[in-house]
Amino acid sequence: MSLSRLKKGDMVKVLAGKDKGKTGKILKAIPEKDRIVVEKINLVKKHKRPDQKNKGGIVEKEGSFHISKVALLCGKCNTGVRVRSKLLEDGKKVRICSKCNEVINVG
Ligand SMILES: [Zn+2]
Repeated sequence: MSLSRLKKGDMVKVLAGKDKGKTGKILKAIPEKDRIVVEKINLVKKHKRPDQKNKGGIVEKEGSFHISKVALLCGKCNTGVRVRSKLLEDGKKVRICSKCNEVINVG
């Protein structure tokens, strides 16, 4: 899996680590590091200083992690799958689930 096949808004399944088996939406992609930030995955505690809006304290925030730990989620297979690219007749590139051959839509 390369990051060119994953983008912001994609649903992914976590394959390794403490959040193994969970699914979430990609909030941010960092192509130069091959890392992503996924909603509610890899939460890390951060100390926040109080400011005018917040009291401060410990907040949980998503930390980035390497893309090798996730697979794109196929809505039909309902699991993390390998994808391949397919060029449509109109020149548009889509991602195809290698299990069920369905086009994986991006939200
Ligand atoms: Zn599928």
